[in-house]
Amino acid sequence: MIEINTRIQNLKPSATLAINQKVKRLRNQGHIVYNFGFGQSPFTIHQKIVAALIDNADNNDYLPSTGLPELKENISSYLKKYHRVVANPKYIYIGPGSKELLYQTILMLEGVFLIPQGSWVSYLPQVKSKGGKYAILKTPHENNYKVTADILLDYCANNFAGQKNLILNSPNNPTGAVYSAEELKSLSEVCKEHNIIVLSDEIYSLLSFQNGRSSSIGEYYPKKTIVFGGLSKIFSAGGYRLGFMALPQELKFMHENFSSLFSETFSAVASPIQYAACEAFSLKKEVLEQITTNTAILKTIGHYVFNELEGIGVKCTQPQGGFYIMVDFEKYRALFAEKQLFTSKEIANYLLEYGGIALLPGSDFYYNENTLNFRLAYVDFDGKSATKGFSKNHVSDQSF
Ligand code: PLP
Repeated sequence: MIEINTRIQNLKPSATLAINQKVKRLRNQGHIVYNFGFGQSPFTIHQKIVAALIDNADNNDYLPSTGLPELKENISSYLKKYHRVVANPKYIYIGPGSKELLYQTILMLEGVFLIPQGSWVSYLPQVKSKGGKYAILKTPHENNYKVTADILLDYCANNFAGQKNLILNSPNNPTGAVYSAEELKSLSEVCKEHNIIVLSDEIYSLLSFQNGRSSSIGEYYPKKTIVFGGLSKIFSAGGYRLGFMALPQELKFMHENFSSLFSETFSAVASPIQYAACEAFSLKKEVLEQITTNTAILKTIGHYVFNELEGIGVKCTQPQGGFYIMVDFEKYRALFAEKQLFTSKEIANYLLEYGGIALLPGSDFYYNENTLNFRLAYVDFDGKSATKGFSKNHVSDQSF
């Protein structure tokens, strides 16, 4: 008999990929499906970035396993200019997606991983696949599903010993919430007091609806915040598979460990992609303008969806950035119960099979399965046409 690692055997296919496959199957069978399960950028990659990729298509060099130096310089400048995070380029690392870098960091760190409810689907499987310890932190609807300093403090007071690693994501997938500077400051006080390492996932950073810049906890807690980002969301280049992480000065002792881990696993990200990313993170005026327009479109749609849902009495939280909004179907509990539907997963399956509406159940994002909340992604549209039809005046109205 062939034995395989039981930790891997227990992993389920990613919830997001599973729903997309189901939607495809139903559409192929001729059904009309409103796909609110899909979480990929609908926009095109800026031509300048594509041109940089093409110009370097014949580059077959292996780049350093920590990444192309010019790219790391550009990311360092970007972090400073847009998020007030000071990152030494030497301790910025390039990997095949921020997902991979998050995983390698989770592998690297001992201790317990604190995951707020309403977090991205992949964090927990990554922790579980290494047999790591974890705790799910409660996040109330009233606080826009964000973890508060009090909730974190409460956890620390009851679990004093051992290393703690907090995974924080803002702008957030699945809730659409963005942490304010004040909230991040309060969280950083608790992190300082309890020596917590923060894995700050800022993959949707420039898609914040307030002014196109999300605050980073790295500004307030520079000693132990590792910032993650990449090409997938802000530059609409998910398929390019390039992410970065910025290690703070205080954690630079891990430099050799990360360099070895990367060189022994993925070696380096494809050279042409790194040159394309170098162009992207130099954030030339035209590229920034495109991101600003995209963010304005997302904001308009996000607010429209929120207003329409509120208008028909569905409880939800106003999206503040990214692609998503959380909706709460608690008021329909009795109606669903009549149909023998009790969990968010059962309801999501029912809505897709019988209503042609694809949503992801809150239980995929660490909520109790009996909590009737769902992630609604509002990006299943033709981004190219949307950009063309969106006037410049509209962008300036958005106060970016
Ligand atoms: N973090 C969050 C919150 C995400 O939603 C995603 C992608 O969906 C990622 C990380 C992964 O991004 P990447 O494409 O850089 O691996």
